[in-house]
Amino acid sequence: MDRKDILLNKQRIVIKVGTSTITYEETGNINLEKLEKFVRILINLRNKGKEVIVVSSGAVGVGKNALGMDRRPQTESEKQACAAVGQGKLMMIYEKLFNEYGQLTAQVLLTKESVTNAKCRKNAKQTFDELFKMQVVPIVNENDAISVDELSYGNFGDNDTLAAYVSRLVDADLLILMSDIDGLYTDDPRKNPNARFIHTVGKIGRSLENMAKGASSDCGTGGMATKIKAAKIATAAGADMIIANGNNIYSINDVMNGKKVGTLFLSEQHQKEMSEEVAPKRAEFRRQAKREKKV
Ligand code: GLU
Repeated sequence: MDRKDILLNKQRIVIKVGTSTITYEETGNINLEKLEKFVRILINLRNKGKEVIVVSSGAVGVGKNALGMDRRPQTESEKQACAAVGQGKLMMIYEKLFNEYGQLTAQVLLTKESVTNAKCRKNAKQTFDELFKMQVVPIVNENDAISVDELSYGNFGDNDTLAAYVSRLVDADLLILMSDIDGLYTDDPRKNPNARFIHTVGKIGRSLENMAKGASSDCGTGGMATKIKAAKIATAAGADMIIANGNNIYSINDVMNGKKVGTLFLSEQHQKEMSEEVAPKRAEFRRQAKREKKV
């Protein structure tokens, strides 16, 4: 089983884009050219008959800029207000771009309760199912204006985790997290030139989690640790997950075509199939080593 076998026939795909993927680092303004390319890629996937869900960050950043703030919001209430201003603006731009191709979109804002409370989860799932039937592209974000840590229903805190929960909710078969780095390295490649790139991850063990703790990725909320957390949720729920570099938005196409880009986290099912595939080869290797020892 290679990447192509795993990725070519994906049907229901959740794609998460972080603030760093859709805005300019220097100004925090939306990178319209890139967003337009992203929307075209999504519509093309729709044209191929795939179902896509976008999990998009950017509400806080867009709101901050619209309000003329030259720093990140400091307090919870400032962040909430920025998100409330920015979310509408962000959706307006998405709507405009999707509209050019006659593709309907829907805004779905979730709180942590939407996935932890059984009744809310059922309602959210029902909405997504109906939107799929209606061939609408849902654009999801956390409802930052009302979800704060202090409230009893808590918050996701980052959109990597949110995207993983959305994948689980809709039984997606692939989750793509667009990051500002190529994928997972053994160490931070910006600090350690000997850091090695990891192409495929099977079972997520303690050592991998510890490794990710040190490595930062996005300039947004999610670092590598949140991506590993997301991978654990998504892969346990049956989805494969890829971290790919959002600096090249076309890497989404490469991922879908089974090219060796990004880090692939195998779903539990694929982990099992992979280990069954390699088990006889390992056994043969051990037998061969024993025979050579005897000679
Ligand atoms: N929900 C936040 C926003 O839209 C971003 C959270 C994240 O990027 O992880 O601005």
